[in-house]
Amino acid sequence: QPSGLHQVLLPSQFSSLPASFFTKLQPTPLPAPYLVAVSDQAAAEFRFSPEQFQEQEFIHAFSGSQHNSHPEPLAAVYSGHQFGVWAGQLGDGRAILLGDAIPKSGVRHEVQLKGAGPTPYSRAGDGRAVLRSSIREFLCSEAMHALGIPTSRALSIMGSDHYVMRETPETSAVVTRLSPSFIRFGSFEHWYYNNRPDELKVLADFVITHYFPQCQQEDNPYQALLACIARRTAALIAQWQAVGFMHGVMNTDNMSILGLTLDYGPFGFMEAYDERHICNHTDQQGRYAYHMQPRIGHWNTHALAQAMLPLIGSIEETQQVLDVYPAEFENHRQNLFRQKLGLRHTNPDNTVLLDRFFDLMQQNHADFTLTFRSLSHIRNESSQEDERLLDLFIDREGLHQWLISYREHLLMEKSQNEERQFLMKTINPKYILRNYLAQIAIKKAQQKDFSEIKKLNMILNNPYHEQPEHDQYAALPPDWAGHLEVSCSS
Ligand code: AMP
Ligand code: MG
Ligand code: MG
Repeated sequence: QPSGLHQVLLPSQFSSLPASFFTKLQPTPLPAPYLVAVSDQAAAEFRFSPEQFQEQEFIHAFSGSQHNSHPEPLAAVYSGHQFGVWAGQLGDGRAILLGDAIPKSGVRHEVQLKGAGPTPYSRAGDGRAVLRSSIREFLCSEAMHALGIPTSRALSIMGSDHYVMRETPETSAVVTRLSPSFIRFGSFEHWYYNNRPDELKVLADFVITHYFPQCQQEDNPYQALLACIARRTAALIAQWQAVGFMHGVMNTDNMSILGLTLDYGPFGFMEAYDERHICNHTDQQGRYAYHMQPRIGHWNTHALAQAMLPLIGSIEETQQVLDVYPAEFENHRQNLFRQKLGLRHTNPDNTVLLDRFFDLMQQNHADFTLTFRSLSHIRNESSQEDERLLDLFIDREGLHQWLISYREHLLMEKSQNEERQFLMKTINPKYILRNYLAQIAIKKAQQKDFSEIKKLNMILNNPYHEQPEHDQYAALPPDWAGHLEVSCSS
């Protein structure tokens, strides 16, 4: 029995914070809205049925109209470092928190409309989001969730023929996002840099109470909180590296205190491997390139630590926590890549094997996803499955040599083909959101054909399954995909 909206939406916990944390305001309705996409999985988790999203009540509610069903909408204030530079006050410039909802998991979530009109934090922006970036956020958040990577979720996209100006005029949309919290590193920085220690403490206490209650028992709860956030951030970035995900804009205002992937913009998945790959065309320095992400996670944790210093007390206690990050990241990374190689035992030689594999991927610009997926089919003895992997490398002899030492590892471990292949296919996805796949769905949607969004969402919902009928969605990108550029414009 699906629930009605008024049964699901509760006043947000966030609205219990002091008034200085937000501005209460109504969304600006998207003109003549229509349904573009709904995530069947997210809907089901929140006890909605996908059919309800065809109804005017839902279309209006999730595009910013029908104020009555929204308990206390608000936009939150935060600040942040953008591209390494203090940017001062930012805030929800186009996101409006409608209220909370409790899914079947029992974990209370915030329900947020992105692109629902201007707020006091919009600065020069129009408060809108274009259909293009809304589709990308929708598809990627749901795909990341299916990959098992912590992320905000996406419930629906409502579209409109209302044009907004970007590099060219584009139509606008509203994405409904779900997350236990949208509090960012920059939320803490906001109060620190505004010299407001009382609010800083209120925020930390709120975060501990609702999200990290285990910290209450610690001698220094704020130090414990920072440690929890540092560990989650390190774990998240290790998971990004393991699927070749690049966020594109790892500014502190886009870093979730829950260690979730947040604020999808010019993100990308690694295709032809290049550790220096920059997915965001606007990031000319490569600050957020693939190989930089782990360090930037640490840098961002420093920025958060700086903001929490008055709560923690001493530089020594703060520094201790920061030292947690690199070790935690390395530990997760090694574990993940060991599993991606199908190895059971932690062995110092694994690093050599992995480094050599990455060298070959780098020299040959081997497709990241296809390489690890093809490796998952390799057998203890050479077989025709080798070809699939070898075909991804120009230097076949180099890879051939590598396979010899790889097989020595498998032999040492008494590795079993079937068991290893099974496990490797649960960690090396076959399907990821390639840029060109998103682009095809966007082009069709701009012509009012939303079927490709639905299809992609469905395929990416089972990224580890073979789905042989959708093989072409796992293929190398076509030549035209090489010219795609993704920028901050959204
Ligand atoms: P982002 O780089 O997308 O995470 O956004 C950085 C800041 O700019 C945030 O405070 C956003 O709310 C704000 N912003 C981005 N685009 C818009 C827009 N079209 N209208 C209002 N604010 C925006
Ligand atoms: Mg206020
Ligand atoms: Mg942002």
